[in-house]
Amino acid sequence: MKRIIVALVIVEFIMGCTAIKVSEQSNKNIDQRVDSLLSLMTLEEKIGQLVLFTSHWDVTGPVMRESDLGEIKSGKCGNVFNAHTAAYTYELQRIAVEESRLGIPMLFGYDVIHGHKTIFPISLGEAASWDLEAIEKSARVSAIEAAVSGINWTFAPMCDISVDPRWGRVSEGAGEDPFLGSRIAEARVRGFQGKDNNLADPFTILACVKHFAAYGAPVAGRDYNTVDMSERSFRGVYLPPYKAAINAGALSVMASFNELNGVPATSNKWLMTDLLRNELGFKGFVVSDYSGIAELIPHGVTDNLDEAANLAFNSGVDMDMQSGAYFKCMKDLVESGKVSSKSIDEACRRILAVKFQLGLFDNPYLYCDTINEKKYVYAPEHLDAAYDVAKRSFVLLKNDSQTLPLNKSDKLAVIGELANSKRDLLGSWKAAGDWDFITTLLDELKLFAGEKNVLYAEGCKKFGDDRSMFEEAITIAKGADKIIFAMGEDNEWTGEATSRTSIKIPGVQSELLEKLRKLNKPIVIVLMNGRPLDLSVESEMASAILETWYAGTKGAKAITDVLYGVYNPSGKLPMTFPRNVGQIPIYYYAKNTGRPKSPEEPKYRSQYIDSPNTPLFPFGFGLSYTSFKYSNLQLSGSVLKLGQSISVKVKITNSGSFDGEEVAQLYLQDIVGSVTRPIKELKGFQKLFIKVGETKEVEFMINHSLLAFHRLDMSYGTEPGSYNVFVGTNSNNVLSAKFSIE
Ligand code: BGC
Repeated sequence: MKRIIVALVIVEFIMGCTAIKVSEQSNKNIDQRVDSLLSLMTLEEKIGQLVLFTSHWDVTGPVMRESDLGEIKSGKCGNVFNAHTAAYTYELQRIAVEESRLGIPMLFGYDVIHGHKTIFPISLGEAASWDLEAIEKSARVSAIEAAVSGINWTFAPMCDISVDPRWGRVSEGAGEDPFLGSRIAEARVRGFQGKDNNLADPFTILACVKHFAAYGAPVAGRDYNTVDMSERSFRGVYLPPYKAAINAGALSVMASFNELNGVPATSNKWLMTDLLRNELGFKGFVVSDYSGIAELIPHGVTDNLDEAANLAFNSGVDMDMQSGAYFKCMKDLVESGKVSSKSIDEACRRILAVKFQLGLFDNPYLYCDTINEKKYVYAPEHLDAAYDVAKRSFVLLKNDSQTLPLNKSDKLAVIGELANSKRDLLGSWKAAGDWDFITTLLDELKLFAGEKNVLYAEGCKKFGDDRSMFEEAITIAKGADKIIFAMGEDNEWTGEATSRTSIKIPGVQSELLEKLRKLNKPIVIVLMNGRPLDLSVESEMASAILETWYAGTKGAKAITDVLYGVYNPSGKLPMTFPRNVGQIPIYYYAKNTGRPKSPEEPKYRSQYIDSPNTPLFPFGFGLSYTSFKYSNLQLSGSVLKLGQSISVKVKITNSGSFDGEEVAQLYLQDIVGSVTRPIKELKGFQKLFIKVGETKEVEFMINHSLLAFHRLDMSYGTEPGSYNVFVGTNSNNVLSAKFSIE
């Protein structure tokens, strides 16, 4: 109690000081408050607002070194990331507010990507739910837990489209599709910033749209590598999710590490100013990605840090994360006239405006509340939400002879290091998530079916070539009815800096699978991984495959419940699963080419001589324990007029024997255009619950805005002609009809 009173007294004192020091005009609008604050600031203090440094970590938690605290006191470091817990951020904020001359509160950033303490499935997994409500809920819970732990800014959502599973960071995104990616980006911004973008709400945090732009398209899938693409592809495919997140109200954007068409994003004026600010109307601030500004030197657009700072700042990067370039060089750049004081004021203004909007000038400790931290972190409803989102994110890739769901009485041989791993379930960017707190798949299977029905042998490691445990696995499998093999990637093989040249399951896991198959027992593969994998061999050997990504704090229980049919799987792939690495990049919205594959002409066609063109599992694919039949595709008209819409209706019947959810997908094709058009583009989806024997009708509306694209002259709009409309259960299994624009 004493502590609370002391804290309150401090808060009141500081609020008073802040109000006096910073602005006595609390009723005036933010612009005026920012102006009056700016008028009090020295150049160093303004530059300090443009600086973001990481907290340093020790074994017990995050600490900043004494020398860094000095930078906060002197106003030279206005923002910190990687610091968390209410108590620790409180202490740092106290130094900024009480001990710096103007008492300007700091932003506390952190990579709260798929949870803060309660961890949800990795972002790619969440995307596989195609459930916008669930995704928004995940971001909402993450925001609440982060906010009460002192964080007011998350480096999310990651909006990078990628068609290359070699790139490890596909795990952090929403997959390959611009339409799905855009809806998910909006849902995440709503979750982080709140539905009405009220940042001053103590349970909302500032979102950061990253990595701007086209970071997901590095040459050869190698992280940080060169990106080179046409403006038409950039605008049509890669830009939409960033734009959607900005339109949803996100007030910060992170510049990406990569170059785009010869100019690093961090020094790319066209991207950061012409496009982002002037064309998209972005009003917030831009932060570099980590040492991105210093990396302009190895990129080869300058050979010194001063010029790197100059280039980045004059391109439109307001805040320098961690490279120290603004911290070290900005004052000289202003004094030498290379950077104008007016543009320093503008950058500073954008950052301060967000701090005002976050409510930090009214209460700098809004986000450091130890009482709320205890109350909300790992709150039962958060754990329930993590369980709920996890079960929705799994994709059933195969289920021969109804191997799944399991019977409670089945004797199981559980194999694989991943079945007994806590850490892997959390995936990459696990923020402050604790793995000690979570249960493994093995734990949950035993809980559900009883110890006596669940035998376990590790069999092999996630990677490496140790076969010494094969025999034990084969022995226990001999005594079982079904084999559950948890296979996949170590979570450290996914995320940043984890590009692979092979997308096969690592190590000797598949070799063990082959040996187990010889026992002629049903094998269920439970996949844990962060990217589409080449499963061509495994999909032949297993009777069932459940893709579970890295499913988070409550993931193991969710997997168990899906395996036993407590929940009927409903996820759909947000990324194409190729047959082999050679097909990459592979995506469903490909172009037809002048020589599409044809049965009449076997040779001179756009195809491989050693592999089919088709993927192993197409975009949008996912089975259910039941079956859904699509029928009666009907259009309300055959001509789409400007300003009007056509309704597309289809009936879906649950023709199997389990209640379940289906994601109905709408695709469109512009058959003839002034430029070549994709063979299909997702333009709508609906997830609906259908009981056994029931038929439901779904309706989609098609209008001109869904059909607009960058035409031959790069203007954006539609063109007259014929269009195909497709509705179905995945991008490859659809009913179709035609309409036209005159
Ligand atoms: C990553 C960003 C992340 C930042 C801060 C960088 O290495 O690319 O996505 O937000 O680190 O942790």
